[in-house]
Formats: sequence, C-alpha cells, structure tokens
Amino acid sequence: MSRVMLVTGGSRGIGAAVARLAARRGYAVAVNYHARADAAQAVVEEIRGAGGRAVALQADVSQEAQVVRMFRAVDEELGRIDALVNNAGILETQMRVDSMSAERLLRVLSTNVVGAFLCAREAVRRMSTRHGGQGGAIVNVSSAAARLGSPNEYVDYAASKGAMDTMTIGLSKEVAPEGIRVNGVRPGTIYTEMHASGGEPGRVDRLKSAIPLRRGGTVEEVAGAVMWLFSDEAGYTSGSFIDVSGGT
Ligand code: NAP
Repeated sequence: MSRVMLVTGGSRGIGAAVARLAARRGYAVAVNYHARADAAQAVVEEIRGAGGRAVALQADVSQEAQVVRMFRAVDEELGRIDALVNNAGILETQMRVDSMSAERLLRVLSTNVVGAFLCAREAVRRMSTRHGGQGGAIVNVSSAAARLGSPNEYVDYAASKGAMDTMTIGLSKEVAPEGIRVNGVRPGTIYTEMHASGGEPGRVDRLKSAIPLRRGGTVEEVAGAVMWLFSDEAGYTSGSFIDVSGGT
C-alpha cells in the first residue's frame, strides 16, 4: 500500500508542485482545492497519467464542516493518512495596516491560521498513537514574511504566517511522543499566481534584485524542501523550519 498525503491548496502553485513530486515519490495524493476544480483536476490527471494515485477534493479549509468532510473523503478514497501539507493560503490587496478592514483580517486569518489548525487537528486524530494511529508527519507552508513582516504590503498575511510558525513549534512538542513530526517551510519570493492576488502580478521580478541569490524561486525548489521533511532522512527533525528564500 502506498503512503497517503493530503495537500491543501494542491491545485496551483507550490501545492501543485508538492502534489506532483509526492506522487513521483510513491504517495497517493489528495489534491485539495477551493474554487479551481479545473486546475485540481489537471494535477490529478497528470499524476494518474504517470501511473500514480490521486483524487481532487473540494473544501474551504476555513470551514470546519468542510474540513471534516474532506478528511473523511481521504479516509474513504485513499486510506489512512500519513502526511499533511498545510499549504492553502491567501493574501489580499497590498495596503497599510491603517487601511485594513475587520472583514479582510478575518478572511486572511481564518484561511491561513484557522484552516491550518483544523487540518492539523483532523490529521492528528488519525495519525497519533494516542488515538490508535500509526504516526505521520505534517509540514506547514509558512512564509519568510513571518520573519520580515511585509510592511506596506500585507502585515496581516505576515502575522498569519507568524501564527502558523508558533503552531508548528507548539504542536510539534505536543505530538512528537505520539509518532508525529511537525515542521515548517518558509518560502521567500516564489513565481506563482499568488502575487496577482495582492494586485501585483510582476512582484517577483520587481523584488529579485534585492534577493541575495538575485532571482525569484521556483515552486519545485519549495516542493523539494517540503518532501525532504517527509523523508526518512528527516526522521529526527521536528519543530524545525527550512527557509527557501534565496538567502533573504
Ligand atoms: P497560489 O498559487 O495563489 O495557490 C493558492 C492555493 O491555495 C490554490 O490551490 C487555492 O485553491 C488554494 N486555496 C486558497 N484558499 C483556499 C481555501 N480557503 N481552502 C482551500 N484551498 C484554498 O499560492 P502559492 O503561491 O502556491 O502559495 C501556497 C502557499 O505558499 C501559501 O500558504 C502561501 O502563503 C505560501 N507562500 C507563497 C509564497 C510565494 O511567493 N508564492 C511565498 C511564501 C509563502 P484554488 O486553486 O481552488 O483557488
């Protein structure tokens, strides 16, 4: 039986790259998406075309009932989960904190923080030896923004990633004795469609000259770090972070 991984936000960008690489490494992959069924289905078809196992699962990770339903679908369609990638995340139009509405703050925090907590909860309920599980691993896709703060762009997003990092530390200590490792990957400036959500599709190219490696990163470079944290080579690594940020 192949190991089973759920990638939240697996339809596009970094999540899609993780789903593809995981499938190549032998995982059966649940590709979660929110709205872009077409993109999720394309990832699934690519994996199946290469002989792998994958399913597309719609769920808004900020909604508890949808998260519970998604994990039940993983149980039924792929089997016992071994690996969770908390990757789904959003940011909104660039602005200063003194312009942010409560509605915006709640949207960002409920997707990026509450969503990651709810998915971690469902994964732990299945993986933990305390609950009769056989262990597993969780990787939280945070951001260099957690360290840098994203001034004048999206401090709310940066703060959500700071919360995610604190969750990584606390949860890793809570569940390590129960066979679960929890780690984080903090990408820097990566070529994906996310920057368009902030109103600046060309953001990576604007910033690249200030990055020590003088270029934006690729989704494959982030996926490689995520998959290392699931590997046997990372067996003694928990509560740790890999910065994939070109030296930033
Ligand atoms: P992206 O290209 O915008 O893709 C976002 C993914 O998240 C999509 O698959 C989207 O699904 C999904 N998603 C959004 N809201 C969701 C929700 N409520 N429930 C479930 N899925 C949801 O983003 P990306 O750049 O790959 O970013 C992936 C992760 O990396 C995020 O957590 C982001 O914060 C982090 N990150 C990115 C960068 C960067 O430079 N790109 C840097 C640091 C960290 P649909 O396709 O259905 O919309």
